[in-house]
Formats: sequence, C-alpha cells, structure tokens
Amino acid sequence: MLNRENLVSLFDEQLASWEQAGNNYKALERVIAKEVDIDGFPFKVQFNPARIVSSAAKVDTKSIQERKCFLCSENRPAVQKGLEYIHNGDRTDIYTVLVNPFPIFPKHLTIPLLAHKDQAILGRFDAMADLASLLPDYTLFYNGPKCGASAPDHFHFQAGNRGFLPLEDCMDKLQKKEVSHYGNSIVYEVLSAINGLIIVKSSSRKELIDIFYKIYSLLEVKEGETEPMLNILCWFDKGIWTTALFVRSKHRPSHYFAEGDENILISPASVDLGGVFITPLEKDFEKISAKDIKDILNEVCISFDELEVLCRKIKLKL
Ligand SMILES: [Zn+2]
Repeated sequence: MLNRENLVSLFDEQLASWEQAGNNYKALERVIAKEVDIDGFPFKVQFNPARIVSSAAKVDTKSIQERKCFLCSENRPAVQKGLEYIHNGDRTDIYTVLVNPFPIFPKHLTIPLLAHKDQAILGRFDAMADLASLLPDYTLFYNGPKCGASAPDHFHFQAGNRGFLPLEDCMDKLQKKEVSHYGNSIVYEVLSAINGLIIVKSSSRKELIDIFYKIYSLLEVKEGETEPMLNILCWFDKGIWTTALFVRSKHRPSHYFAEGDENILISPASVDLGGVFITPLEKDFEKISAKDIKDILNEVCISFDELEVLCRKIKLKL
C-alpha cells in the first residue's frame, strides 16, 4: 500500500539491496551545482553524469520498437521493488511507485502505469492530482512523449522530494498576472524568466481537474503528434494544489544538435523548466550561461506573446 511510511521503507530497502541505485544516490551527494540568475529567478545547473541515459535517450519510433520496455514489470530488474497504487479503486488504473535508479532529486520516484500504454495525459491528470495529495512530501511531474519522457511508449509520472526545485520556493520572484478566477481557484500567466508557463492554484480537486482539461482543449496539437507538447509539475501543500503547465513548442533545442563548441547536450523536461538544468557532461556544466538558458527556454517553450494569446482564450473558456 502507498503511504508515507511504506515509501520511506522502500527507499531504505532499495538503496541497501540494489547496488546500482545505491551507488547513484551516493554519487548524487557529490554532484556539483551552480546558480544562474535569469531575470531575478535563481536557476540551478546540476552536473549529473548518470543522467546521460535520459538526456541522450533515443526516443524515435524505431529505437523504441527495438528495445525492451524498461517500465514493464517483466523487464524490470528483479531487485527493483515497488508500491502499488490503485487509482480510485479502478483495477484498470494501477500504478507502481518505484525508486528511480538515475536520480536528480535526493528522493526520486518513477511511477509507471502497470499496463503498457502510451504516454498521454488525457484522462490521467486526475491521478496526478491524487498522487500529489497522497504524497505531500513530493512534487509530481509529467513529461509529454516529445517533451523529455525517455519511455514515450509506457505511461509514467515521476516525483521528486519537495524543496528542491526553485519554482516551488521562488514563485514570488516571477512576475505573474491573474488570468481567471474559477470558483475558488486562480489561473496565472507568468510574465518573466520562464516563457510559456501557466500556474494554477486550487483547493478543489474538481475545479483543478476541470481547469486542466479546459486549458488542455485549447492547446494546439502539432501534425503527427498525439497530444499538445506539455510538461507538468504538481504539488500539494496545506490543502492547496499548485500546478505548473509548461506549454512547449519544441522537443530538443538547437544546442543539442549543434557541432563543436556550440553543442550543449541538454534535453529539457519538467525538472529543467522547474529551475534545475541537468547537464550530464562537464564541458556543458562549465560553459552554460544565463544567455544559453534563456535561449533554450525561448526555443523549447512558446513565447510570452503566444502565451498572452492563449491566456485570452483561457479567460473566455473559464
Ligand atoms: Zn512497458
């Protein structure tokens, strides 16, 4: 059963019995980080070599078809144990809470659906909100199939311990504008530092889910894609859900494909957009600047102007 106590025991047990996970969490304690200010918002850059598996993951259809799915229970290492979560008592909606063996956070979870189904948030955001309230020590996150998920073919959330992402504690350093009041919930448009960002604050599960799907229905689905390009963070504190929706325009920035000195191996996802940029290579950690981070954000998320247009539509819909 999923609860705080069992989760603490799972971590202790897995770090003791699973050598690879134990080593990677130990290595994380020695990981180096630096702070880079973007318009008054303190981004962190983390040099994390173990994350090369995710940042450089091949997620094209052919590569995915040719590998065994690492989130299906039959392919997971025997040593990896998990806690079952049955959402809303529905036996077709079962998740397994696992320790992520390639951590960014001091406590990092991967939460795959038991069934092998595509990464798509439609119909599953309510499970995200429920997991956030069930795990108040964690921030839940969702990476869309073309927005950083390294298993786009197997639905999963991730979660990391609270108090790590600058977005949680530095929300007041972002300029924001109220877009709409919906019942007791408020939707904000972010006007500085991070482009393409919508924040929803709500004390009502029902309102939050309504708002999410109303916004979702207004987002563009690009040709050949299965859903709007999105990263989502969600956490629950003192009875209030905070949800950050990053509306994306691109999967990987030009820096990822550039040759020579221009190259920066970075594949932004929820954690990077929430304020912790992950660089698996030391050369990138050394050289990445505020300008690079700004350029990357401008490339991968919609612009402030595009967000303004979207927020006008949201205002009419809510
Ligand atoms: Zn699978």
